[in-house]
Amino acid sequence: MEKTWRRGRRVAIVGGGPGGISAAIAFNAAGYDVKVFERSAKPRPLGGAVMISTPVMEILRSYGIDIVHNFASQTVTNFANHKGRPRVSLPFVKELELASGIPGWHYGILRSTACDKMMEVLNAKAPDTIVGNHALESYEETESGVTLHFTNVESVEADLLVGADGIRSAVSKQAFGEPDLFHVGLRVWLAWCEDVPGVDRDNGWIHHSRNVQASYFPMKHEGKPGFEWWIVERSGPNAPQPTDVEAHMRNLLREFPPVMRQFADRTDFSMNIFPWEIYNRSSLQEWCKGRVACVGDAVHPVSPYAAYGMGMAIEDGYVLARSFHGKDLSDPQVRQAAYAEYQAERVDYCNHNVEFARKLGYAFHRLPRPLSTLRDFAFDHTGILQKFVEKDYRATVSRILRALPELHVG
Ligand SMILES: Cc1cc2nc3c(=O)[nH]c(=O)nc-3n(C[C@H](O)[C@H](O)[C@H](O)COP(=O)(O)OP(=O)(O)OC[C@H]3O[C@@H](n4cnc5c(N)ncnc54)[C@H](O)[C@@H]3O)c2cc1C
Repeated sequence: MEKTWRRGRRVAIVGGGPGGISAAIAFNAAGYDVKVFERSAKPRPLGGAVMISTPVMEILRSYGIDIVHNFASQTVTNFANHKGRPRVSLPFVKELELASGIPGWHYGILRSTACDKMMEVLNAKAPDTIVGNHALESYEETESGVTLHFTNVESVEADLLVGADGIRSAVSKQAFGEPDLFHVGLRVWLAWCEDVPGVDRDNGWIHHSRNVQASYFPMKHEGKPGFEWWIVERSGPNAPQPTDVEAHMRNLLREFPPVMRQFADRTDFSMNIFPWEIYNRSSLQEWCKGRVACVGDAVHPVSPYAAYGMGMAIEDGYVLARSFHGKDLSDPQVRQAAYAEYQAERVDYCNHNVEFARKLGYAFHRLPRPLSTLRDFAFDHTGILQKFVEKDYRATVSRILRALPELHVG
């Protein structure tokens, strides 16, 4: 390890999820010596399909991933009521399309495909970066660095520790305290299936009934067309799981447009369904301390309305590495300047996304009658939801135009 573990350049990343792998590629490209310590034998991407948006596509392209050919499926995002009556259609922003050279905004992909592509890049550029079977227990800061202590294996000293170890992060817990995780009252059933002939592949639809969401987006898995579909329903920390998941999901789908049932008919319920109970934490204002910097769910676990957990983790990893400008990690002033740059770029933005998603989740699933009746009347008969969602989306786009200029091609 000595030859490739140079003092001042040693980055130890804990967690081989999307945030950790993105950080590893970006720090490696910036000339640092990188190790990813993962508690499993090797990283296993959670969940089914994901939506990735333009900034993430730009980052993946900068990592050397071919995002043009058979990578993901471009889609227009629409909202409708449970009968299929349209409520919102998110426009594309020409200025962003020209700057990024990427048409549209949302792309559907199987999560394992996206993670595998990042792993391929990392393995090609820096084989042996990922070290499996290393579960971090604690860390210790000393004069010469930060020492990582693992269960049953030797400790390792580094100059910077990146906490990318997910919602129950040991790194974040030690740095910032117990995370006050709370259930947001929602459960998501994530599913995916092969292509369904005759279903439009240019549009994704998010349908809402009074308390339930049932939605689908076209996506690609290993270059082949398919669909991701999902249901969001009320839940709670002690809510029982249904014994017959397929029957439960089919029952929920009864009030939604028939197309949703076509996806269910083509889904392998024994393999391609992932339940996700949604937990959040109070927003943190600091993600970096001493020799520790955190990314992804370790500091901002998401809700489904952000549709963006993987995306934000990938962005964090990229921006964190960029903030160091290739400088000496053992210099406290370098670290302080990098942390300030990284946090200014990411903290308010991610906290806003998480909080906005939580509000949407509450508005769509937890409002009592008669407020939910009024909500549905307003969403069906006024442009209020279009205005609300489009305003937030346009603010995100204009921020991206400012935030990643080095990745634009136009
Ligand atoms: C079941 C489920 C389904 C989901 N589906 C979606 C979805 O469809 N779309 C979406 O956008 N988001 C989804 N999410 C959220 C999404 O997974 C996260 O937002 C995203 O993966 C965050 O990436 P991350 O790299 O920060 O953390 P993670 O992906 O959680 O990765 C953390 C990694 O750290 C490792 N680790 C943890 N503790 C230690 C330790 N002590 N030592 C060493 N390694 C450790 C873990 O094994 C893991 O590999 C889902 C979450 C869950 C739980």
